[in-house]
Amino acid sequence: MNINGKTRTCGLIGKPVEHTMSPVIHNTLAEELGINMVYVPFLVEENLKDAVQGAYALNLLGMNVTVPYKSEVLESLVVCDELAKKIGAVNTLVREEQGYKGYNTDMTGLYRAMKSYGIEIEGEKIIILGAGGAARAVAFLCLSYGAEKVYILNRSIEKAKAIATEVNEVMKREGIIAMTLEDYSRLPEEKMLCIQATSVGLAPNDGDAVITDEAFYKRIHTGYDLIYRPANTRFMQLVKEQGGKAYHGLKMLLYQGVEAFELWNQVTVSEELADKVYEVMKGVMKIEE
Ligand code: NDP
Repeated sequence: MNINGKTRTCGLIGKPVEHTMSPVIHNTLAEELGINMVYVPFLVEENLKDAVQGAYALNLLGMNVTVPYKSEVLESLVVCDELAKKIGAVNTLVREEQGYKGYNTDMTGLYRAMKSYGIEIEGEKIIILGAGGAARAVAFLCLSYGAEKVYILNRSIEKAKAIATEVNEVMKREGIIAMTLEDYSRLPEEKMLCIQATSVGLAPNDGDAVITDEAFYKRIHTGYDLIYRPANTRFMQLVKEQGGKAYHGLKMLLYQGVEAFELWNQVTVSEELADKVYEVMKGVMKIEE
């Protein structure tokens, strides 16, 4: 990396940021494409507005935004992409004339990741586990891409209901059904795609899954876990034990980064290059698949 007077800076704002893989994605892409850009993490303890204004004043080309600021950052934007506005969460800021424009590449990244595995959304019945920020965005994604029905199961039923009401209203159809985790026996008796969007099973609590009953996993033909640390979650193991296919969330992370990089630098990243970056990420994670 050759940093000089023309180097552009992008970065990640969040709390915490120490374990982020994003510098690996962006600095590899910049190097491979010969783009004079560097990507660094910025820990923002408080005063998000000041941080965004400061980034703009320092001529930063773009930012990623992570926990806990993905919703709060909407207040600091000059304009927001329609999908991100609907989702109510922004993870990418792109420099414009008077300030930053917000996008949500988490969702388009998840869509691209699922496509790369041949996972379909259109016309499907889909189970989402969880009703936090990620699950909410996944619910929007599923209805936006034509899922037939989405069953959203959460420990706190109020949160699942709130997502169902909001997404159904915005999408103008009764596509989302809210249930408690214990309600899974009432799901249709057929195999479905299940997207695991709770934080249960995240390292260091590797052995946990939000539902452990094998009867539930008999209803799943494909499991996609948003978690990528560890790379073989208990949820994934339970899906595979009942004959389903299972994937972790590292490709979602890859593609949300690729899409942010494309927005910042006005380039298209080829699938070959995305694969190359993914190999580097797997190397850092010390995983095979
Ligand atoms: P939130 O904190 O907003 O939501 C957490 C969810 O997990 C809630 O539904 C919560 O249920 C549920 N949950 C937490 N603890 C328990 C428990 N003990 N039992 C049952 N349910 C529980 O997190 P996010 O939505 O932001 O993120 C969810 C996951 O997605 C995280 O693991 C995150 O790492 C991953 N993620 C991955 C990305 C990627 O690029 N691969 C991108 C974004 C997120 P309740 O509502 O009842 O509290």
